[in-house]
Amino acid sequence: MKNPLLSIVIPAFNEEENICNTARVVEDIMVKEQIPYEIIFVSDGSRDATFAKILELAKLDTRIRGLEFSRNFGKESAIFAGLSAIRGGCAVVMDCDLQHPPKTIVEMYRKWEEGFEVVEGIKNTRGKESPIRRFFAGLFYKTLSALTGFDMENTSDFKLLSKNVIQVLLDMPERKTFFRAMSFWVGFRSCQVHYDVADRAFGTTKWSFFKLMKYAITNIMSYSTRPLSLISYMGTASILVGVVLGVQTLVRWASGKALEGFTTVILLLLLLGGGIMLALGILGGYVAAIYHEVKGRPRYVVRLDTDKLLTQGDSDE
Ligand code: UDP
Ligand code: MG
Repeated sequence: MKNPLLSIVIPAFNEEENICNTARVVEDIMVKEQIPYEIIFVSDGSRDATFAKILELAKLDTRIRGLEFSRNFGKESAIFAGLSAIRGGCAVVMDCDLQHPPKTIVEMYRKWEEGFEVVEGIKNTRGKESPIRRFFAGLFYKTLSALTGFDMENTSDFKLLSKNVIQVLLDMPERKTFFRAMSFWVGFRSCQVHYDVADRAFGTTKWSFFKLMKYAITNIMSYSTRPLSLISYMGTASILVGVVLGVQTLVRWASGKALEGFTTVILLLLLLGGGIMLALGILGGYVAAIYHEVKGRPRYVVRLDTDKLLTQGDSDE
């Protein structure tokens, strides 16, 4: 029989107001539904009392465990750290602010009991967001879906994975991970559940616009090399334009009207200069990605672990 324990992985960055509330809301639901569970909070180098709160809860309740990173490594790293610490037969990854409704976890768990190995949470609506953010998020997912060939629209990090799938993800050697797309890439028996994004319980969003743009660009680059072929297309297009303009220039020269056209020269210089810089930038991006992978540094560094702290505490007594 498979291990029925459900592990709930919750990345948390400066979420001191949310920890206790989130743990309580999850407990209420899991107890009511009689689902055996554990919560693994991963504090992503929080600068407030997040980890202190986690430790407080862990002392009172053995179902609650937690890790603290040595600095802010990002949500992706926090997710992977949590997944590598689970004891359950399956794990759900959810946000700390209850924007991912815990009720949906029950639905995901039932699907897992039916035999599904990956249960994707799909957003019905994107919740409250500024129009600019919505526009860029739309653009990001459209680009990503086109590049990966998976329909990634309205996907999120809210999903359930079976232990065997998690093992496959953990065994992947890449340093720059993109959890959301990797769960599609691995395949397995998967299904979807839909949910409405709730309002943030407490506090404010931990993502600045700049951080999100960087996230979008790194993920597209780590997932696809198509921007590289784009450079060759741009090059081909500019050669074609060059041939046409070259013929025109020769004709003008032959007919003795060659001294005009400085505007064209300036425009061409600007356009080609910009194109070359962009191309170099794209190449540079991939070189940087290779550089980071080759260094092979760990995805995160754990500073504190409630399991270790609490067993040490016991032996001291
Ligand atoms: N988060 C994290 N590390 C970060 C930024 C965010 O672990 O560097 C966590 C955060 O604590 C939350 C989840 O990722 O549990 C989603 O973040 P947030 O709610 O701020 O993002 P939004 O819902 O606004 O997209
Ligand atoms: Mg949120």
